[in-house]
Amino acid sequence: MQTAERLKKIPPYLFMELRKKINKAKADGVDVISLAIGDPVEATPAPVIDELCRTAKDPLNHRYPTDEEKGMLAFRREVARWYAARYGVSLDPEKEILGLIGSKEGCHHFVLARVNPGETVLMTDPGYPAYRSSILIGQGVPYNVPILPENQYLPVFEDIPSEVAKKASAMFLNYPNNPTGACATPEFLNKLVDFARVYDIAICYDNPYAEIVFSGQERISFLQAEGAKEVGIELNSLSKPFNMCGWRLGMACGNPDLIAAISKVKENTDSGIFNAVQYAGIAALAGQAGFIDEMLSVYGRRRELVLATLKKIGIDFDPPKGTFYLWVPAPKGMTSLDFTNRLFDKTAVVVAAGTAYGQYGEGFVRISLTVPDDRLKEAMARIEKEFK
Ligand SMILES: *Cc1c(COP(=O)(O)O)cnc(C)c1O
Repeated sequence: MQTAERLKKIPPYLFMELRKKINKAKADGVDVISLAIGDPVEATPAPVIDELCRTAKDPLNHRYPTDEEKGMLAFRREVARWYAARYGVSLDPEKEILGLIGSKEGCHHFVLARVNPGETVLMTDPGYPAYRSSILIGQGVPYNVPILPENQYLPVFEDIPSEVAKKASAMFLNYPNNPTGACATPEFLNKLVDFARVYDIAICYDNPYAEIVFSGQERISFLQAEGAKEVGIELNSLSKPFNMCGWRLGMACGNPDLIAAISKVKENTDSGIFNAVQYAGIAALAGQAGFIDEMLSVYGRRRELVLATLKKIGIDFDPPKGTFYLWVPAPKGMTSLDFTNRLFDKTAVVVAAGTAYGQYGEGFVRISLTVPDDRLKEAMARIEKEFK
């Protein structure tokens, strides 16, 4: 059976390749430790699970979701309260907030809602691979904007050729950044709004790590920037802060025209989010901010362990302050892939090669801190032994 051309342009999903490699080694009896995937292992907070169980029993919630294409008003109101409390951003729950089946869904539907076939869409290199897939499925043309360590992994707008910017209708950004861990600054966000205005580029600011910050780094929302709502939306998600990756719940906030357009796409694609999941989401946002602090101290502890181990083997660097990843330079003379392969072959520790996130990821690997402490300790002991 022939399948659509648009799919042929999409590179194989990074984690699928990794999974194959891991599965083979496991089948051979190797004790593999994967530090490659960002998916918290600890449970979702108990009150959130309780709320799901309670509301799942109500037959009213067995019907199609309330306000299908927008998400329940009660959920959107809670998101508005959360944005005001956490980021000082005021949002109209009727027009400026939309419930999502996770932020990844939002990326995809954003492209369908904004980009015409053949239009350029800017994304960063390195960058989250799903942006490229969303752009390609939406028949846009991805353009990679390098983000480099010497610029704190932020795009330099003056370096984007103006003929490219003129052709572009949208841009994806993500800070705190997967994979580099870099955080945005208020000055940068102001520049982003200016750039978007000058070239009429709709911004999709994907912010699922907004809450995952360390060492005094402030929580930053794109919507804090003056004029942000005129030029774009922010996607956010309960996956990462509340250990809810499997639940599939997120939100899009910001520009009302984009929100309405995405809502129209969703109305004709999915029929919204299971009400019980939305009630559980309300319980998370309303009552579980303290859980985030607990997880931050867990990740902080693991971060220190990894950094100390790397230092012992001669990899000493100043890590960016966001996300539960560490973006680690390979030892001198080794490429991303050399380092990844040596780690896997000699220590059975899996990390993600930086080049999986784009050509400018060369020279780095990404280590995820979403593994149990004992496994991380074991992985670090093996690495220390191998590289000492
Ligand atoms: C994890 C992740 C997502 C996906 O979030 P969901 O809400 O689970 O879909 C989106 N963007 C980035 C950059 C991520 O790392």
